[in-house]
Amino acid sequence: MFTWEDRGRAESDKGNSLTLRPENTAGVVRAYIEHKLWDRGLNKLYYIGPQFRRERPQKGRYRQFYQIGAEVIGPASAGSESPARDAEVLEMLATVLDRLGITGWNLELNSVGCPNDRAAFNTALKKALEPVVANMCADCQRRAVTNPLRVFDCKVPADQPIIDTLPRISQFLDEACRTHFAAVKEILTKVGVPFTLNDRLVRGLDYYTRTAFEFTHGALGAQNAILGGGRYDGLSEALGGPAAPGIGFAIGEDRLVMSLQESACAESVLKKPDVYIAPLGAGMNPEAALLARELRRHDVVVDLGDETFRLKKSFETATKAGAKYILIVGGNEVEAGAFALKNLATGEQISVPRAQLAQKIQE
Ligand code: AMP
Repeated sequence: MFTWEDRGRAESDKGNSLTLRPENTAGVVRAYIEHKLWDRGLNKLYYIGPQFRRERPQKGRYRQFYQIGAEVIGPASAGSESPARDAEVLEMLATVLDRLGITGWNLELNSVGCPNDRAAFNTALKKALEPVVANMCADCQRRAVTNPLRVFDCKVPADQPIIDTLPRISQFLDEACRTHFAAVKEILTKVGVPFTLNDRLVRGLDYYTRTAFEFTHGALGAQNAILGGGRYDGLSEALGGPAAPGIGFAIGEDRLVMSLQESACAESVLKKPDVYIAPLGAGMNPEAALLARELRRHDVVVDLGDETFRLKKSFETATKAGAKYILIVGGNEVEAGAFALKNLATGEQISVPRAQLAQKIQE
């Protein structure tokens, strides 16, 4: 966490300990408790904003970054504990990424069980780490003491064979947690949301229970999670509130944009222009702009050229942009109210009356 002592302009502020928020789930749950939101049954809440972490900056990892998060929380009687909630959240996320045009995402799924499972697992993990931890990286040596679960986050290649030998939380799940996880997987399979089981996915914070997940993207590099989330059935009680099972996620907005750029580079979301408009001279710019506006209103994807007199250059630019047609806008065409439309693939050129242009291009 980003924590420091206030140097304070006012004497009364001096020495105050200040911390910037590292995440928002606990804040949402505090608001849930403070405003007694359980009276409303099942709550679906969201937030968007900056978060701060004192981490070593690298590609995709910043000290100030932005999250878009959502939580579903409420009394168990309102259905908040149901595996249907987990699957609903995951299906929504898959749809969001698909609709944004992000291709190549991978949903990684695990269950981290409940506090009892975790206690047994932690003991087993500590025991398994004892004889090997001296051979691991400095971070892992620290984690082994402070939070052994986090050893599974290690990306140091030399540590991987050691980590492979460690026990997994999946071996420690009780009956209820196994049933819950099986139900989540069954729904996801039924609705056709693909997922990969990753029994190394533990998520760092103690309050997570049962379903834990991340959506990753191969093109992001070492920091490959676009978003992460999970269930936190005991968090409200831990913060002094009533029992209120919940599940939520935080999308890393910065990484969402990076994934979008990667997907666009893969040319799956970049639309090629239907038509390149080539004005013959500066005097034709207003006419060309008007045609672009008219065609765009009909959902034609338009690239608008500039006033070059050299048709050859216009043809080169249109071809490079991958346009299907080139539309030539000169004085004669404007006067006649019909424009030369050339199919760049076949070389066929026809004269099309202004009113029929959009239709002709879309055909
Ligand atoms: P977490 O709860 O730590 O898994 O964070 C959720 C998401 O926020 C991650 O999947 C990332 O997309 C994003 N995120 C977390 N930490 C950072 C950071 N330091 N810089 C940029 N994005 C981050």
